[in-house]
Amino acid sequence: MEDCIFCKIITGEIPADIVYRDNDIIAFRDINPVAPTHLLIIPCKHIISLTEMPEADFSIVDKMLRIANRLAEEEQIAESGYRLAINCGKHGGQEVLHLHLHLIGGRQLSGRLG
Ligand code: 5GP
Ligand code: ZN
Repeated sequence: MEDCIFCKIITGEIPADIVYRDNDIIAFRDINPVAPTHLLIIPCKHIISLTEMPEADFSIVDKMLRIANRLAEEEQIAESGYRLAINCGKHGGQEVLHLHLHLIGGRQLSGRLG
């Protein structure tokens, strides 16, 4: 997708601190982290959001969650705990229209969402 920031990170057109990459998924550090660990885990395929997800592509979400699990271990936040979030659409606060899973941890997070 031409104007998608995250697609440009995948191609290397925009630099990012990439912590994981395979043929389906990349993960990189959020440019404006809200906690000591703030990673974004995204499919390499341009899927706008969870609500736009083709039925056949749902296995990618499974894979994103497995990678989140692994990255939480690597970031040494698996034991202390962390939050996974997917923002969807306007009210969900989604700003980048390329599906992404936030992995946030390394400090005590607020108990309230929203
Ligand atoms: P959203 O609000 O769409 O769920 O989250 C988008 C996230 O992408 C935000 O946390 C924002 O800081 C991050 N972000 C936006 N542009 C860039 C960028 O160019 N590089 C990186 N690494 N993160 C970005
Ligand atoms: Zn994209």
